[in-house]
Amino acid sequence: MKINLLINNVEIETENYSEVNDPGRLTDVVGHVAIGKAQHVEQAVKAAHEAFLLWRNVSLTERIRLCLKAADRLEAESSSLAKIISKENGMLLETTKAEIHVAATGIRNVASLAESALKSEYIEDGMSWVQVEKRPMGVIAGIVPWNAPMILTMQKLAPVLIAGNTIVFKPSPFAAMGVSIALKKISEIFPPGVINVVHGDADVGSALTTHPLIRKISFTGGGETAKHVMKAAADALKSIHLELGGNDAAIILHDVDLDEVVPKIASAVFRRSGQYCYAIKRIYVPSNLYKQFCEKMCVLTDEYKIGHQLNKEANFGPINNKRQFENIKDLINRIKSSNAKMIELGKKLEPENWDNGYYLRPIIVTNPEPDDEIVRCEQFGPIIPIISYESEEEVIRMVNDTEYGLGSSIWSTDEEKALKIAREIEAGMTFINGAGQTSLGYKYMPFGGIKQSGIGRENSKMAFDEYIEIHAINLHKRE
Ligand code: NAD
Repeated sequence: MKINLLINNVEIETENYSEVNDPGRLTDVVGHVAIGKAQHVEQAVKAAHEAFLLWRNVSLTERIRLCLKAADRLEAESSSLAKIISKENGMLLETTKAEIHVAATGIRNVASLAESALKSEYIEDGMSWVQVEKRPMGVIAGIVPWNAPMILTMQKLAPVLIAGNTIVFKPSPFAAMGVSIALKKISEIFPPGVINVVHGDADVGSALTTHPLIRKISFTGGGETAKHVMKAAADALKSIHLELGGNDAAIILHDVDLDEVVPKIASAVFRRSGQYCYAIKRIYVPSNLYKQFCEKMCVLTDEYKIGHQLNKEANFGPINNKRQFENIKDLINRIKSSNAKMIELGKKLEPENWDNGYYLRPIIVTNPEPDDEIVRCEQFGPIIPIISYESEEEVIRMVNDTEYGLGSSIWSTDEEKALKIAREIEAGMTFINGAGQTSLGYKYMPFGGIKQSGIGRENSKMAFDEYIEIHAINLHKRE
């Protein structure tokens, strides 16, 4: 399968195609992706700019209607898309199917909030009136990572287009195929140039972020890359929106029912083999429950069956790419020289294929020091530290002692107490007795982080704030 660039609703071939290998069976080639150059970025941004001059005048009702059509198209293509995405990014097929459904739901959610979010404000007195209008910005650069590529792409696409902007996407080289195919299908619904796609890595990313016609960079990815993006934006004082990594803490309070809570925690830790931004990345347990909690976590974690992402028996897939795989293995090696204990669990489903993919077994780390690297870093993989604490004050202090601030969770049968602690946590989001949004939360919770976990928000009405300019008009009435 050959995936080309998309500019002005036309597929563009390039001189270079990168081979995409299946991270769960490296000897399998999934397809080839056209790699763009600065000249393609130039063409794509120009096309998006031309399209913007017309698209901004299309009525809001019509823009919403077309985005709703896009959501339907996405779901109609779900089964073929899911297979391609799973093959290229290593996520379990069921997870990817669910992801496409969530991505379509996300489009519908923001579409339903658009009228009120984009409404102008009008105030009048005897001498004048003031109108505060929300206008589109222009061409947006949408840069996305590999771990949940469809959700993360559509979370940008819908508010960007509904607000009247156009977009040039740069998918991750580790998950470009599915996103690109989906965007091509969806782009047919819109006028040419409204959606464009250029593939590549840092060079294409930087050609895009420095292009003078890009009015906003909407970036989801790692903090180090975000610093390059911010620097690139600085030269032209461009607006940026950053959705970055986290080191989300789960705080277990002493009154929990462990049988009820531990399965939910394990799932929030190891879903996508730990490769999602608001996965639980450290667990704080009261000292009197510590041993029991760790034992239960180990029993449950040992039930994971690790195998190829399309194997129906597997409930734990590979790591997405070599760099991430090596990072986690290096981290594991460094933990070996600390006082913490590592317990490797789970069953290898296809031992003969183990070295032909980026496979890791899930690991529980017990008795780490609060300052150990595994507690302080964003591991972004299947390895989780469990830390013991004595008092609420101590746990709140430890949880907040980080430069990350994406999500967090509190687990307790006492909802009032959990809420009180939630309000002490420095994070963009806190979940109580769950780790992730309910369907209500997915629609109404602004998604994003504080400190070095991000700038700005996705989802909810606030998603639109990222992609509008305010134009204030004051009319002086004549006497
Ligand atoms: P990454 O930062 O390596 O890459 C993200 C994207 O940036 C890719 O498309 C990449 O090609 C592009 N890129 C690389 N260099 C660039 C440059 N100089 N200029 C512009 N673009 C450039 O991240 P990744 O490994 O793909 O994803 C994992 C990270 O993403 C983790 O830290 C994770 O927590 C974070 N993430 C955050 C969220 C969120 O919503 N907060 C969601 C998912 C993932």
